[in-house]
Amino acid sequence: MKIQHRPARPARSLPRSSSGKVVAVTGGAGFLGTHLCEALLARGHHVVSLDNYATGSRENLRPLVATNRLTLIEHDVVEPFPAGLPRFDEIWNLACPASPPHYQRDPVRTLFICADGARRVLERAAEDGARIFHASTSEVYGDPDIHPQPETYAGHVNPVGPRACYDEGKRFAEAVFTDGCARAGLELRMARIFNTYGPFMHPDDGRVVSNFVVQALRGEDITVYGDGSQTRSFCYADDLIAGFLALMALDGDPSGPVNLGNPVETRMDELAELVVDLTGSRSRIVRRPLPVDDPRRRRPDIAKARALLNWEPKVSLRAGLTRTIDYFAGRIAAEPPMRLL
Ligand code: NAD
Ligand code: UDP
Repeated sequence: MKIQHRPARPARSLPRSSSGKVVAVTGGAGFLGTHLCEALLARGHHVVSLDNYATGSRENLRPLVATNRLTLIEHDVVEPFPAGLPRFDEIWNLACPASPPHYQRDPVRTLFICADGARRVLERAAEDGARIFHASTSEVYGDPDIHPQPETYAGHVNPVGPRACYDEGKRFAEAVFTDGCARAGLELRMARIFNTYGPFMHPDDGRVVSNFVVQALRGEDITVYGDGSQTRSFCYADDLIAGFLALMALDGDPSGPVNLGNPVETRMDELAELVVDLTGSRSRIVRRPLPVDDPRRRRPDIAKARALLNWEPKVSLRAGLTRTIDYFAGRIAAEPPMRLL
């Protein structure tokens, strides 16, 4: 693939305010994409969301269209960027199914969303001279044998297991962006995101926080996989987005990926009990089989983010869950079934 940094083209269709940038967000209609679009619009930028709505929803972004600075484009990121778009100052690459049941539904496609999605963003950024933000993941560490996980840890991923399509796709994308940006002289910011939750998750997303909260609110059994002793470290969406913005705005070279996540570690059986407590639900907590290759534990070492960005999460799990429960309580009754990949 030939990647050249060409002189920037002028914006074609979007007016530029004096301070506002023109930015693209792939996966803008998803859980994190919605929070990000909201934050970028609040800062006066023009945002173009490119999303095929596989796991995201136009409804998430509908209230933001009133800003007149948000353009929604239905687009599959494995294809080249659509014609007729303005020159972008920044491209934020979030498009990818992120929940295990969704990314495992068509594993080969997931691999190519990661791979071709990265290639298309890189090609377009090279044309525009845009700075790239890539949403990578703690899954690049696999089932870690170093704990907590610093960015220097190369990981422990099973390349042929059921999670490989996501883990290896994300690892490949990191390599594409690292080498491609170095060759094209482009600015790159890569976040390794640890489990994040909050409003705008889909009720049928399948990840643990939305599952437990929705099950508790519906009075259904709360499904703890395995014995519940496995851990994750949960970051509230607002904290994560503050980290995104700080990382993208960083002037100096971050020297590779930066972990963003909340270092407070929680067992899944404790999470289930906390959700029951906060919802006042009468749901039973039941056990289901632990999925193959499910990481036993995960916690970010955020020393790099603290030092580079002066960033750390502020929202406790209890406070973040309370806001998330309020959100789901307000919408689950009216939610149509999710359209799957
Ligand atoms: P999400 O599933 O809610 O959002 C993903 C978005 O990408 C959706 O809007 C979906 O429709 C879109 N998309 C998927 N395939 C596409 C395609 N081929 N073309 C165009 N759009 C496509 O998930 P999320 O939690 O918002 O995750 C966003 C990004 O952050 C993902 O790249 C994910 O891997 C990464 N991430 C998230 C977390 C987390 O805890 N939320 C953790 C680590 C990494
Ligand atoms: N999990 C669970 N019940 C559920 C969904 C998930 O116990 O209904 C567990 C899952 O096995 C894993 C943890 O919760 O150990 C986090 O799962 P999630 O899919 O949210 O994220 P990931 O495994 O990708 O970190």
